[in-house]
Amino acid sequence: MLESLEELVIALSKLPAIGRKSAWRLALHIMERPESEVKHLADTVLSVRRKVRRCAICFNYSEQEICAVCSSQARDRSVICVVEKPTDMFIIEKAGRYRGLYHILGGLLSPLNGVTAEKLQIASLKKRLTKDEVKEVIIGLGGSGDAETTGLYLASLLKSEKMKLTRFARGLPAGLELEYVDQLTLTQALNERIDIL
Ligand SMILES: [Zn+2]
Repeated sequence: MLESLEELVIALSKLPAIGRKSAWRLALHIMERPESEVKHLADTVLSVRRKVRRCAICFNYSEQEICAVCSSQARDRSVICVVEKPTDMFIIEKAGRYRGLYHILGGLLSPLNGVTAEKLQIASLKKRLTKDEVKEVIIGLGGSGDAETTGLYLASLLKSEKMKLTRFARGLPAGLELEYVDQLTLTQALNERIDIL
């Protein structure tokens, strides 16, 4: 087999949900396309990777230091919804009903896999809460064991703070593709919040 083609297949198969068979299909597709089209794809991937960084406040993806949600005057600054990853935030934003801010943890606590509180954006969350304007924190994590552990940890950490702590009545539909998310379920999950403290 051609060494450079094999290299492309290995690189593509590192992408999530791409097995070796799909990687082969993609690699062969790339080989069939005009060079200009392949260049555009490669340039776009690199340009996005270089331009997009993490918002300094909520850790959402952003091309600016502060993301559009955090800098918007139309958002309710008294509520922060804590989610695991940017995709969860996109899902909630797509449902279009939530007007508060976010905080992206960047993962879930998983001591067995070496993910401790220091590896997540937990200290930065606590720092944000020292501002009086925050009245409610919503734990918007999924329903997995790690999500439960993380939720409990946050609850114990934040219980000394003055604000209200709530969580979704139902977890976010973990791992679902954005276009398959049932917006009604999401809106209900947001509306039916349960008080933790
Ligand atoms: Zn932000």
